[in-house]
Amino acid sequence: MTDEMHAAANKAQELAGEEGGFPEQEQTPPGLSTDMKPFPDHGEENWVGRGRLEGLKALVTGGDSGIGRAVAIAFAREGADVAINYLSDEESDAQDTKQWIEKAGRKAVLLPADLREEATARKVVDDAAEQLGGLDILVNNAGFQWARREGGLQGLKTEEMDRVFKTNLYALFWVSQQALKYLESGSSIINVSSIQAYDPSENLIDYASTKAAINNFTVNLASELGEKGIRVNAVAPGPIWTPLQPATKAGESMPQFGSDTPLGRAGQPSEMAGAFVFLASPAEASYVSGTVIGVTGGKPVF
Ligand code: NAD
Ligand code: MG
Repeated sequence: MTDEMHAAANKAQELAGEEGGFPEQEQTPPGLSTDMKPFPDHGEENWVGRGRLEGLKALVTGGDSGIGRAVAIAFAREGADVAINYLSDEESDAQDTKQWIEKAGRKAVLLPADLREEATARKVVDDAAEQLGGLDILVNNAGFQWARREGGLQGLKTEEMDRVFKTNLYALFWVSQQALKYLESGSSIINVSSIQAYDPSENLIDYASTKAAINNFTVNLASELGEKGIRVNAVAPGPIWTPLQPATKAGESMPQFGSDTPLGRAGQPSEMAGAFVFLASPAEASYVSGTVIGVTGGKPVF
């Protein structure tokens, strides 16, 4: 095998510490890529586009950082114009993503907005479709969790649940509803699930519930939209090195992050992008709908 074939895995191995994770660190939500040690790999150096999304128009929520940034970069290199939504505190990360999209020769649209508000969430989709001149791919990637919590279910506060359920579920429903105004035959929706839907952690009981609901939503909507020729799928990541982790978990858990997977390390955002490009590709995934692809370092998603 050539070095090019191993590039993403080699880079991920190089970034991981001895235990498979990363140095102790914490951020305040939503967190920034530039404050992470080490800086994650979003495929900046390694993703090679092969024209698989030529001329398509995509909206990626939470596209400023982490998995969303890796998806935005790969989509742009595959020939798509990309709109990204994010929180206004993340403007610096969003600007970096924008530069990568433009370096790939594609149009970048920046849409800062808090998706927990219905009218705002719907407007993000309208603005994306208007500025891109249509919409072919929706990636429901924005998400939130809060793991710095004690006391099991009793320790869960309503305001924490509100943030998790509004961001991960309400917003996903509103954004998807609004996108149906624009998606046509050949288009697709890709939702971001989690290993937590299958193997839930006690201190993420609310978050894990939303991810199980996203899987259920995915198959249900795939059934509804099949007759329109619109495909709906999900990707379930395992432990991936993104700002969400140091911004929502205890700093001392970072060195072990990802070490309990069969591959023995956390994944990098760049290692997620292939699943999204495949699912978004009208040619390669023309008969793929209502499924969940796990990218988990070996943990089961069935
Ligand atoms: P990330 O922090 O880079 O991305 C999450 C993004 O969600 C943020 O950048 C932010 O822009 C967006 N967001 C959060 N609240 C929002 C709101 N109210 N309005 C608009 N946008 C909002 O982290 P990530 O890990 O790349 O997360 C992307 C997705 O992957 C999430 O759905 C997450 O649940 C999922 N996921 C991540 C992991 C992992 O280990 N990193 C594992 C499984 C699933
Ligand atoms: Mg971010």
